[in-house]
Amino acid sequence: MKNVTLGNTGLVVSEFGFGGIPLTRVPEDEAARIIHRALELGVRFFDTARLYGDSEVKMARALEGRRDEVVLASKTISRDAKGAEADLAQTLDNLRTDHLDLYQLHNVAKDEVLAQVMAPGGAYEAAQKARQEGRVGHIGFSSHHPDIALQAIESGKFATVQFACNFVEDEAAGKVFAAAQKRGMGCIAMKPLGGGLLERADLCFRWLQTVPGVVPIPGIQAMSELDQIAALYADRKPLSDVDRADMERIRSELGSRFCHRCGYCMPCPNGIDIPIAMLFRSQVRRFPAQELARLSGRAMEAIEDCEQCGECEARCPYELPIPEMLGEILNEWRDFQARHGLA
Ligand code: SF4
Ligand code: SF4
Repeated sequence: MKNVTLGNTGLVVSEFGFGGIPLTRVPEDEAARIIHRALELGVRFFDTARLYGDSEVKMARALEGRRDEVVLASKTISRDAKGAEADLAQTLDNLRTDHLDLYQLHNVAKDEVLAQVMAPGGAYEAAQKARQEGRVGHIGFSSHHPDIALQAIESGKFATVQFACNFVEDEAAGKVFAAAQKRGMGCIAMKPLGGGLLERADLCFRWLQTVPGVVPIPGIQAMSELDQIAALYADRKPLSDVDRADMERIRSELGSRFCHRCGYCMPCPNGIDIPIAMLFRSQVRRFPAQELARLSGRAMEAIEDCEQCGECEARCPYELPIPEMLGEILNEWRDFQARHGLA
């Protein structure tokens, strides 16, 4: 696998990295097998977060004895210095290392969050202190909001930016990454498969290969996914006219109001599994009716309990009108039940 340098950090990483979120869904032994296979294929960049359950712990066990071969990145969702310092101590303990190559402020996606992390006593202060002490190599941030990401980039305080980037979410990512590259920052593409929404890995990675200087970090939870992505990098092919037409069709099917399955809207006080309910629209095209009813029935019925409190909407980094969308999806679910005699 080819290696690339992450902006001006001097960190040499594989041309795609390993996103750690899905490790939480994989048993420990299987997580280790997948990570060992990734190392065998030449993956040298591993990204996780304090927020991702036991992902750090599983990653550390799999990387035991191989720490020096990889670039290791994690994140803190804490907004103040005290919380970020406590998170870092826990992360280093979980990852069984004395330093992170990259420490990122997680989901800096609102004005007030950016102000808070950069203020005296904010999370950035803790990251900077850790950098001076050698516990952190570089400081980056992740965001889902282009305007806030641009402000953070213009602050000149960060070495890397992590932003959702795939052929459906290309416009904002293009602006964010262009601004970051002007400042010599490393650009990390999260959600290269649209958070699981885009099924055509071939289109996703061939398109990403056309975006210069961007390192995707697909979340990987199965050996087959890893092998497929590695094969797309080993055997690079340009996008064909048919590929481009397929991408256009997918873009128009999804429209602009689609759920990225990030889960930031959760928990709902009324127990509605919002990301699962939102999936209905894409699953309805892929699953047999009975199977879909079995998989999604409970989540769909729970939408009836929505009291429009708006808590989820306030937390959604994509500013989706969640209660309104859930209402539409519930209507579509009722039509689906009627069409298939499932009511
Ligand atoms: S608006 Fe509805 S779905 Fe959202 S948090 Fe409130 S009850 Fe849950
Ligand atoms: S509704 Fe918004 S916050 Fe919730 S999973 Fe979808 S994109 Fe994320």
